Amino acid sequence: MSNLLTNVTFHGQRLAQSLKQEGIINEDVLAAISATPRQIFIDEALEYKAYENTALPIGHGQTISQPYIVARMTQLLLAKGNINNVLEIGTGSGYQCAILAQLVDKVFTVERIKALQRQAKRRLRLIDLHNIAMKHGDGWQGWASKGPFDAIMVTAAASEVPIDLLQQLVDGGQLIIPIGEHTQTLMLITREGERFSQQKIETVKFVPLLAGDVS
Ligand code: SAH
Repeated sequence: MSNLLTNVTFHGQRLAQSLKQEGIINEDVLAAISATPRQIFIDEALEYKAYENTALPIGHGQTISQPYIVARMTQLLLAKGNINNVLEIGTGSGYQCAILAQLVDKVFTVERIKALQRQAKRRLRLIDLHNIAMKHGDGWQGWASKGPFDAIMVTAAASEVPIDLLQQLVDGGQLIIPIGEHTQTLMLITREGERFSQQKIETVKFVPLLAGDVS
């Protein structure tokens, strides 16, 4: 094994260990965090912070999410069991997508900023994950032609729950989404036929889910 890989595994394991202490209990999620080189998803200048439990800038005013929140949202969605396909809104760096892709059969991800989408595609190519489909577009509309989805994860804060996303859930499927502007609450919404039940998870801080796409 090269020194780089040894270091990556070591740092990933240490990060997973600290998330465990913060209450992440799903061993599969911890294993995915451990195995994922977060450093390839951020700029070289910030590499030294790659395995700290913090959000970091990724350009275009956006951020790679804090590992704790990545792990927490993933753990919440997997708790239901039988999750095969997941739609992520807000590809950003591609890190959350890489974690999901190690845990479910297929991940679909939508990003509104073309340059970030291209960069994430390049970065995901560096690791051996082949079950990801990416799209440049407006996540408010989801990705209807690929649905319905067992789970949908939105990694930017929406002013309200996007109706299109609710409609793209399978019966029993779940949407996890931060709602609000200055004060945001992470919500877990479950589809029960044509009804939707909501559970408040915790207060969070995400960049906003904006309208439209940027080429
Ligand atoms: N999941 C990402 C987090 C990125 S931050 C990661 O692991 O790095 C949120 C991302 O959502 C940003 O890249 C932002 O451009 C994107 N975004 C914001 N509004 C969007 C929209 N309407 N549709 C798709 N992506 C959107």
